[in-house]
Amino acid sequence: MSTIQIAIDGPAGAGKSTIAKLVAQLFDFTYIDTGAMYRAITLKAMQLNVELNDEDAFDFLDQTSFDYKDGVLFMDGNDVSKAIRSREVSNNVSLVSSHANVRKILVDRQRLIANDKSVVMDGRDIGYNVLPTADFKFYLTANVETRARRRFLENAQNGIHIPLEDLKREIIARDDFDSNRAITPLKPADDAIIIDTSDMPIEDVVKTIETKVREEV
Ligand code: C5P
Repeated sequence: MSTIQIAIDGPAGAGKSTIAKLVAQLFDFTYIDTGAMYRAITLKAMQLNVELNDEDAFDFLDQTSFDYKDGVLFMDGNDVSKAIRSREVSNNVSLVSSHANVRKILVDRQRLIANDKSVVMDGRDIGYNVLPTADFKFYLTANVETRARRRFLENAQNGIHIPLEDLKREIIARDDFDSNRAITPLKPADDAIIIDTSDMPIEDVVKTIETKVREEV
């Protein structure tokens, strides 16, 4: 069988990563969380104390390594999966990911990872930019109340306590920034299947994607 690419895009908290992970398990494909890469770079920039507004401060990217092991992201050999979920990283990642040089390097790496294997890749620009010839493209969305509530519950499970109203405000701000940046903003590919997950349980969304893929593979 030749390799298959499934692109899943959408705004923050639409359930992309949970669903992409389950779809990848179902088909035994590699799951690639591109948001985690932008988050990791943001974390490193904060640790290095660089000026986040300054595109030229991101030279360190050339010497930064990423590795996925069992869906866990390692940066420079360290498991950063927890640290990249902090509120500080969440609130700075949109700025960092709006820099052209950051996007260029990460998009090249994302394409390289997807080059020789079947993948489920989630992000903001996968269907129309990173993998424009992907076999399947989905765009998951949900109303902001639902998305904030999901994030709230996910945070609670990880021992992070941010008031729901704050989360809602932060999600709106991040989506606004991601949708309006000059380079490859958040948007669905023209040929993406749009799924509003507001009133759908996770398993129904996974089933919808699975059915569509099995129809054609
Ligand atoms: O998916 P997640 O919410 O973890 O993504 C974090 C941030 O990374 C997004 O808000 C966006 O700024 C950036 N991102 C991006 N392009 C992608 C994936 C994520 O700009 N393909």
